[in-house]
Amino acid sequence: MALLQIAEPGQSRDPHQHRTAIGIDLGTTHSLVATVRSGQAQVLQDDQGRVLLPSIVHYGQKPTVGYQAKEYLTTEPQNTIVSVKRFMGRAKTDIKFQHPYVLSGHDHQMPSFQTVLGQKTPVEISSDILKSLKVRAEQSIQHPINGAVITVPAYFDESQRQATRDAAQLAGLNVLRLLNEPTAAAVAYGLDKQLTHDQNYVIYDLGGGTFDVSILRFTQGVFEVLATGGHTALGGDDLDRLIVKWAKKQLNIDTLDNAQYAHALMAARQAKEQLSEQTSVEITILQQTLILDRNSFEQIIKIALDKTLQVCQRVLRDAKLDLNDIQNVVLVGGSTRSYAVQKVVAQFFNQTPLCTINPDEVVAIGAAITANQLVGNAQEDALLLDVTPLSLGLETMGGLVERLISRNTAIPVARRQEFTTYQDGQTAMLIHVVQGERDLVEHCRSLGRFILRGIPPMTAGQAKIEVTFQVNADGLLSVSAKELTSGVNAHIDIKPSYGLSDQDMERLLVEGFEFAEEDKHLRALQEAKVEAQREIEALTQALIADANLLTQVQQDKLESATQLLSESLKHTDLDAIEKASQQLKKYSDAFAALRMNQHIDQALKGTKLDDWSK
Ligand code: ADP
Ligand code: MG
Repeated sequence: MALLQIAEPGQSRDPHQHRTAIGIDLGTTHSLVATVRSGQAQVLQDDQGRVLLPSIVHYGQKPTVGYQAKEYLTTEPQNTIVSVKRFMGRAKTDIKFQHPYVLSGHDHQMPSFQTVLGQKTPVEISSDILKSLKVRAEQSIQHPINGAVITVPAYFDESQRQATRDAAQLAGLNVLRLLNEPTAAAVAYGLDKQLTHDQNYVIYDLGGGTFDVSILRFTQGVFEVLATGGHTALGGDDLDRLIVKWAKKQLNIDTLDNAQYAHALMAARQAKEQLSEQTSVEITILQQTLILDRNSFEQIIKIALDKTLQVCQRVLRDAKLDLNDIQNVVLVGGSTRSYAVQKVVAQFFNQTPLCTINPDEVVAIGAAITANQLVGNAQEDALLLDVTPLSLGLETMGGLVERLISRNTAIPVARRQEFTTYQDGQTAMLIHVVQGERDLVEHCRSLGRFILRGIPPMTAGQAKIEVTFQVNADGLLSVSAKELTSGVNAHIDIKPSYGLSDQDMERLLVEGFEFAEEDKHLRALQEAKVEAQREIEALTQALIADANLLTQVQQDKLESATQLLSESLKHTDLDAIEKASQQLKKYSDAFAALRMNQHIDQALKGTKLDDWSK
């Protein structure tokens, strides 16, 4: 009797289920979310078709985020938090820059912003921004989100990264990985797919209020940050200020009051952005209109751009590289849309920088591509990053562990194996997921259980249950089971590494080695027991159907052999079980032969047993 059904090689391999992952660029001034759809990474729009979400949260009746929150910026500055990213992971004493907020909390703790809705920590405020992006993604994708990659500046330290992670968790996002912004930009351009290794890339990121430059080295499938540098107060806003300064001079304006200055800045920003499309634009300040062309714009902002180039020079030196060592330069940040910026960068690095992907979307795009790889959708391998600390498997009959993923396997990983039913007519199967190095379930750590129901009743061993284990880059395990003929499926998400202390881990590993011999014996014993029980079960079923084929003497012999085997199963003597099994098998094989003959006879006659009883 066949115990296990083994699928034919190459047969019945379903493409695995598509899982939904998003990439989030949680920026100082703007945030955005992207996903991969039909193999294409794309940024997601809000219900008004806008891609950028201003990173602004207003606390009023309830929290509002983005453009809606921006409206309260001048009227309620203390309830309207901008640039919260600058506060992330910082203790109160670390905050040395100017801001309009009332902060509370101890000096060495995370500060809280006092708002009409109570105290809000930077983590909570960031989480409100993330929630808003999550809702946007869910509405746009129409599918629950399985995981997210969130980008952080390369220079973010552990506490800033942890704060970002906490914010995401608070927003109900499953963080697949925090990814460095420059790395995300490189991934968006497919620089991780270059065939020649040991490449160096410069990522030049000029945003609204900050400038960051990083040098990445790509070796053996991994990005390494060689050096970073930047300016926390140098960005597009400074270019706007320089334009206003120039305009005031041209128009002989001495002073502007606050409101006038704010208007002038807005006009300057608009002119600057239009200049990325046109060669010259008009700018109106205090009802006076000026023409600004690309040439003058270049001259006006030269002082700011020169500063960025000085930083580039310094970072190259830190990385111990010179200009010839740089294979690619990637432009990131809204301000690099300016022709003037592209020109100085090209001149400095002596090559055309990559800017075909929208520079304010490129980080989110790279994050989405990475997220898609991490949930296992992409064809190609994702970046190797980590390994599973302990083996993962499931419980099979007799309390034995069938290992699907061995320890030290590089993650992310997916493994799949087929199992079958144990009893005739079995319609449900308990999938018990365990972790550890031992052969018996009772010696491993139980991670979770779920039941696959709705298996169509079949003879034992005929159903094909495909179980898939998938561990993502964050160490999160998900297990799914599917009955292949009917397609019914069930699934569970498990966090294997969380909740397992270092001592637990150590114990499980050591025991695995220590008990290897003992486990082997126990496994053999359990396997023999399972086999024996299956034999008895099958025989009982056969007797119900075809006992009439046997003489009374034959029936008695079968019965006593069954008794003997059942009795031996109550003990742990492997030899006795095997002997009794063999004895019973002799009779049951003979019985099986009789039944086979009868079925052949019936088939030849074209009648069934039922027909005789009519
Ligand atoms: P951050 O990464 O700091 O959140 P962004 O990358 O969104 O910032 O950059 C915002 C800046 O980009 C603003 O100063 C804005 O004026 C500028 N910007 C946006 N579009 C253009 C454009 N078409 N031309 C020039 N500058 C632009
Ligand atoms: Mg940015």
